[in-house]
Amino acid sequence: MSSSPQADSIEQDQPIQPANSYNWLFIDLNSYFASVEQQIQPLLRKKPVAVCAVMADSSACIAASYEAKAFGIKTGTRIGDAKRMCPGLILVKAQHEMYVDYHQKITEAIERCHPITSVHSIDEVALRLSGRDRNEENALALAHDIKKSIYSVGSELGCSIGISTNRFLSKLASDMQKPNGLILLSQRDLPHKLLHLKLRDIPGIGSKMEERLHRHNIRDMHQLLALDVHSMREIWGGIWGERMHKWLRGNDFDVENGKNKSFSHEHVLPPNLRNPDGAFAIAQKLLLKGAVRLRQHHLWASRLYVGLRYIDQYKWSQEIKMLECQDSLTLLEALQLIWKDVPRRSAPLKVNIALLNLIDDKERTFSLFENTKRLRLSQAVDSLNMRYGRNTVYFGGVHNIKAAAPTRIAFSSIPDFTV
Ligand SMILES: [Mg+2]
Repeated sequence: MSSSPQADSIEQDQPIQPANSYNWLFIDLNSYFASVEQQIQPLLRKKPVAVCAVMADSSACIAASYEAKAFGIKTGTRIGDAKRMCPGLILVKAQHEMYVDYHQKITEAIERCHPITSVHSIDEVALRLSGRDRNEENALALAHDIKKSIYSVGSELGCSIGISTNRFLSKLASDMQKPNGLILLSQRDLPHKLLHLKLRDIPGIGSKMEERLHRHNIRDMHQLLALDVHSMREIWGGIWGERMHKWLRGNDFDVENGKNKSFSHEHVLPPNLRNPDGAFAIAQKLLLKGAVRLRQHHLWASRLYVGLRYIDQYKWSQEIKMLECQDSLTLLEALQLIWKDVPRRSAPLKVNIALLNLIDDKERTFSLFENTKRLRLSQAVDSLNMRYGRNTVYFGGVHNIKAAAPTRIAFSSIPDFTV
């Protein structure tokens, strides 16, 4: 799942959708980095290829083509071992700029078929389906259209698509058939179609979580699915256990939408902005988008999360507590404070900004330190932009990147006016 930070409170469940309703479609590009290499270098097609960040026997493969996977090579296999496992293996040095370029082309190809709801990573995207797209026939037709549209970008760019009642299960379904999969997982398939899976197949269960489950004598899916919601909460140590319990049963609710939740915005940086200044500009722009949404939804945030991912897969994140606020200037100051700790590394690839601990007007305690002038200024900017179009008035820091982070991430049915 996405690396969205944890919120503290329980979501209000939306009613469980009828058994024949598919609310989410999840797209996972197959062996993405290796497929892009096979796309741009035709001589590599149908050959065992491993992509590496560094060409040293002691470092690990960051991707393997399906032909290399047939020899047991996967992400994380040491290059020295991979060469022994497959003597004909072709090693390719990663070209991250190319992968970002193709990411942009692929997301555009998907959006020719349907708007994207969230970008999970460079090779994973989720779409929330609505209306007639939610019935089986139309959801399948959409999946085929998306596959065709992605193939129009490149003949080597296969993907697996999962369609299900919630985002979590659609991601799980996208993992069930590779390469070029298409799996539907409906309410009536639950839980029996999950029983054969390994615990580690479940999004969010990594090696540490698996160990913890083992300590509680949970060793397979039968045992996991027999747990009640309280035991899940206890084992996970909080809200994620409860969410997982509901998701595994097909319940659809969105962690990032509505009251008592978080607003999260993320963006993969285009090549010209993959430097510290570019990342900061995009972070400001994403934060200002979030701030507008806060004010539109009459919500106040008391925590700000900033996450960065770099081209070499290094991840950094930090959170800061704030007085409850919704005005852009206070949020920008909080961002600046966090940004002082951002590592001085080259080539940031993705920026994620989240506003957390959201409460609404009624719940908030009036702060003695509140600067109402700032809020009135933000509200004035919003109303000018709503009346005269976005970017009529904006903050100086985003002047050069106004077009760089388009609002392709639709979180709700109400369109958000962006700065
Ligand atoms: Mg993939």
